[in-house]
Amino acid sequence: MSKTILELNNVSIRFGGLTAVDSVNIKIDQGTISALIGPNGAGKSTIFNLITGIYPPTQGEITFLGATINGQKPHFITEMGIARTFQNIRLFGEMTVLENVKIGQHCRTKSGFIKAIIRGPGVKKEEKSITEASMEALRLMELDHKADELAKNLPYGEQRRLEIARAMATNPKLILLDEPAAGMNPQEKMTLMTMIRKIQTNNLTIFLVEHDMKFVMNLSDSVAVLDYGRKIASGSPSEIQRDPAVIAAYLGKGVV
Ligand code: ADP
Ligand code: MG
Repeated sequence: MSKTILELNNVSIRFGGLTAVDSVNIKIDQGTISALIGPNGAGKSTIFNLITGIYPPTQGEITFLGATINGQKPHFITEMGIARTFQNIRLFGEMTVLENVKIGQHCRTKSGFIKAIIRGPGVKKEEKSITEASMEALRLMELDHKADELAKNLPYGEQRRLEIARAMATNPKLILLDEPAAGMNPQEKMTLMTMIRKIQTNNLTIFLVEHDMKFVMNLSDSVAVLDYGRKIASGSPSEIQRDPAVIAAYLGKGVV
């Protein structure tokens, strides 16, 4: 039987008078690719923000590998094995590709800031292992040959892959991708789809938000649909495409 890696149990968050996420239940099996879809403003990114500890839920419980994580700080959640990318690109354009990936691993370093300045032998060893893990993540996303280029000089599709590499370098068990294909051309989307399939193993679970229905339906084992903060459906891609509530609330609006 498959093991549950992430569970949202009756999770809500209110911002003032707005219930952005309303009593949502989600269960994700380890080693799968799951998608979260829904119109703009449905609460998809907010769910990622709740999972990664940016906001504590107003109500409900979030568990990761059986442990309650709601109320924990983002760095703790990263350390537990959840990594993410953001809807909008968050790269340091004036830094190299490799440096951008190395930054993502600071959550994992044992050496503090002062120690890093003194640069004892422990720090050098750690620096070496960070560089190795970063290069490995770049290889996965086929960007290792661009390690020394400035991030701003990469084409758009590669910048988005670089963000995934940065998340992968923290060696996550679960990776959350917020609209990874947004703004990509069809060729870039195909490349990304192949890479997401390649990184997905029994040890890595992928949970993504995406508007491109072809992308979502081709890639996902299961899909959850959100509308006005509420989960209105979940199931396999074919179940979702046939669901009357989904068609009415979302798909019927001409999105697919
Ligand atoms: P989606 O990612 O599905 O497009 P979001 O999760 O970004 O939607 O937003 C859901 C709703 O919550 C929107 O109405 C948005 O304006 C609101 N919202 C998100 N974050 C905040 C916040 N920090 N403060 C107030 N409202 C927010
Ligand atoms: Mg969003």
